[in-house]
Amino acid sequence: MIVMKFGGTSVESAEAIARVAAIVRASLNRQPLVVVSAMGKTTNRILAAAEKAAAGNLADALHDVDELEAYHRTEASAAIDAALHPVMNDVLEREFDSLETAMEQIAGAAQVTPALWDEAASHGERLSSALVALAFEGRGMETAHLDARTVVITDSQHTQALPLYSRTYARLTERVASLREHHDVIVMGGFIGSSTTGVTTTLGRGGSDFSAAIAGAGVGAEEIQIWTDVDGMLTCDPRVLPGGRRLRRVSFDEAAEMAYFGAKVLHPATVLPAVEKNIPLRILNSRRPEVEGTLIVGEPVRSTNPVKSIACKRGITIVNIRSLRMLMAYGFLHRIFDVFDRYKTPVDMVSTSEVSVSLTIDQTQTLGEIQAELSKIADVTVTPGQAILCLVGEAIRETPGASERVFGALARAGISVKMISQGASRLNLSVTVDDADVARATAALHEELFVTVDEAVFA
Ligand code: ADP
Ligand code: ASP
Ligand code: MG
Repeated sequence: MIVMKFGGTSVESAEAIARVAAIVRASLNRQPLVVVSAMGKTTNRILAAAEKAAAGNLADALHDVDELEAYHRTEASAAIDAALHPVMNDVLEREFDSLETAMEQIAGAAQVTPALWDEAASHGERLSSALVALAFEGRGMETAHLDARTVVITDSQHTQALPLYSRTYARLTERVASLREHHDVIVMGGFIGSSTTGVTTTLGRGGSDFSAAIAGAGVGAEEIQIWTDVDGMLTCDPRVLPGGRRLRRVSFDEAAEMAYFGAKVLHPATVLPAVEKNIPLRILNSRRPEVEGTLIVGEPVRSTNPVKSIACKRGITIVNIRSLRMLMAYGFLHRIFDVFDRYKTPVDMVSTSEVSVSLTIDQTQTLGEIQAELSKIADVTVTPGQAILCLVGEAIRETPGASERVFGALARAGISVKMISQGASRLNLSVTVDDADVARATAALHEELFVTVDEAVFA
C-alpha cells in the first residue's frame, strides 16, 4: 500500500485533476491511499473571507464564498463525468451551505475564534477530497471517499492540533481495511481532523503533508509520495533563486531541518510519523511524473558536498537584549525566555555574549508587549526586515573549511551577517542577513557550494 499526497496546485483545476487521475491509475496495483489538499488557493481565500465576516462585512464574505463556489463548480464540472453531476451537485450544495453557516457564525461572534477558523478552513479539503473522488470514479476507478475527520483524531488545540496517534492509527487501519474490500482507491482530505468530542480541527498550515505521513504510518504504507509543483527538494528555494539542482536523496533529518527553515515543499512535522516507522518519503512533480523526484531516507546520505541545500526563512525580526545585569548572573536567560513563552512567540535563532542576547522571531503580533516587558530588565532593540539563511547538510560540521567557504562567499558578495549559529544541530549552519540581500546571498552561496556536485546525490 502507498500513500499519494497531492498539494493544492496539483488539484487546482480540471486539467490538474486529470493529471492526478492518470498518476494514480498508473499506481493502482500499489493500493493507493490518496490524500489531497484544498484546490489551489482555497484555504487562503476562505480565511480572507472569514476575516471580512469577523470585521462585520458578512455580505463581502458571502460574496467571496459565492466566488469560491463558482470556481469549484466550474472545475469540478469539467473534471467529473456528467453521469455523476447529480452527486457532485449534492456535495457542492452541502459544503457551501455549511461554509456559509460558518461565515455567519464568525460574523455573529465578531471574531474568528480558533474553533471557527478550523471549521471554516476545513471546507477546502472537505470539498477537494469529495470532488477528486468523484473525478476518479467517473474514470472507472472504484473509489471510496474517506472523511478524514472520522479517522484523524486530534487534541483540541485548534489551528495546530496534534493527532492522538494510537486512536488515529486504529481507526485508519480499520476503516481503510473495510473500504479496501470494495474499492481500488481511497481519497481523503489532508489538513483536517476532529477532536475526541467530534469538533473539526486542523493540523496547521501546510498540514496535508502531515496528514499523508499520519495516514502512511497508520496503515503501514511501503512509501509516502508527496506530489507537488517542483521536481523534488532542490538545492535552493526556487522562488529565491531559480536553477537549483534536484536532490536525488536526502536524509529525514536534513529534510526536517530544511522544512523548518523555509523549504515549504515539506511540512516540518511530516517526517516524524514516517521516521518512527521508517517509511521512505518521495517528493514528486505532478506536472512531470517521469522525473524521479527526491527520496527521503532514514539513514544519513553521504556526499562530497557538505551542504545539501540552502533554505531561507524571510521576514524575520531580530530582537537584541542587552543588560549589564547579565554579567556573572544566572537566571537571566530564563527571565527573557519566560517573556517570549508567555506571549506564545517562538524563537528560532539565539546567540549570546556576556551582556547581551540576540534572537530571531517570525511572529510579531505581540512584539510590542514583549518589548515593554523586556525593557523593565534590559535595553531592547528590534531590527525587522531580516532573513535566516540556513545551510543544511549532514557533513557540514565534520568538513574542514566548510564555514570558511560560506563566510568567504558572503564577504566577496559584500553581504554582512548579523547573527551566526552553528552546532545547535549537527547539520545546520545558519546566518541572518538583510531580507533585501537574500537573493544575492543565496546566489553567492550556491555558486560557491555547488560549483561541482556529487552526481550520486544531485541530479
Ligand atoms: P503543495 O501545495 O504541493 O503542498 P507547497 O507550496 O507547500 O506545495 O510547497 C512547494 C513549494 O515549495 C515549491 O513550489 C517551492 O516554491 C517551495 N520550495 C521552497 N524551498 C524549496 C526547496 N529547497 N526545494 C523545493 N521547493 C522548495
Ligand atoms: N490547505 C491547507 C493549507 O493551505 C493544507 C495544505 O495545503 O497542506 O494550509
Ligand atoms: Mg505544502
